[in-house]
Amino acid sequence: MAIKKIEVKRDLCIGAAPCVFAAGGVFELDAENKAVMKLKDGEKNSGPVEVGQLEDGTVNDDALRAAAEACPVKAVYLYDENGEQVYPQ
Ligand code: SF4
Repeated sequence: MAIKKIEVKRDLCIGAAPCVFAAGGVFELDAENKAVMKLKDGEKNSGPVEVGQLEDGTVNDDALRAAAEACPVKAVYLYDENGEQVYPQ
């Protein structure tokens, strides 16, 4: 099951940063201490973004899932190609 889209729920994110440690090529904290994703076009936002938009073209499903699972407040949402939410379940 391929992960197609990622979103950080900013209202949930508490800036704890495990997602950044788990996948530093994808996530960083913004000025409000909320996680954003680094995109190819130089933009950074909390999404939802398509995996293909990510600056880090090497990231895989396992890394994205590990980052989402590392979040203590389950603020990282993952969706498959059908738009179905695959995490959190
Ligand atoms: S691990 Fe969760 S709470 Fe922490 S910065 Fe990432 S999304 Fe936000």
